[in-house]
Amino acid sequence: MRTLELEVPAPADLAIEVIGVPEGAPVELDLRLESVLEGVLVTASAHAPLVGECVRCLGEVTDTVDVSFSELYAYPGAIEKHPDDEEAEFIAEMTGDAVDLEQSLRDAVVLALPFQPYCRPDCAGLCAQCGKNLNEDPHDHDLIDIRWASLKESLEAGDDDGDEAPASPPA
Ligand SMILES: [Zn+2]
Ligand SMILES: [Zn+2]
Repeated sequence: MRTLELEVPAPADLAIEVIGVPEGAPVELDLRLESVLEGVLVTASAHAPLVGECVRCLGEVTDTVDVSFSELYAYPGAIEKHPDDEEAEFIAEMTGDAVDLEQSLRDAVVLALPFQPYCRPDCAGLCAQCGKNLNEDPHDHDLIDIRWASLKESLEAGDDDGDEAPASPPA
């Protein structure tokens, strides 16, 4: 058995509609290669960055994904060959060209992606009334219409200025 660590650029469409691994982002692969009778069994774990869109507030979601999968690469009808030789050859092939794993990687990653990503677990989302982001600007509208609210604010501000009668100038 041998192990191999690789970093490969993420292929395109390692993603679902709302979230995914950006194309070209580094995907870390830890591979364990085992000779079995029929070929080489590759057990892989992959770690990759994720970028997506929060389903509540439409803000950016950054996360990581960890998946593991295994895949048997069968020898083309070559059971008599010495397995160790095949393993060495296979490793050379893998290091030069890791695309063989791409489909398995994609299947595993796509299955692991959240269908409803949140920017944070308690994301407050967007205000149903004014559309503002409630994470950045927590508020509620009570019963006052928003236009009245701003009018009220300016009236209050005016009050503060003119509330007290000007003191008589010192003699
Ligand atoms: Zn959010
Ligand atoms: Zn609002």
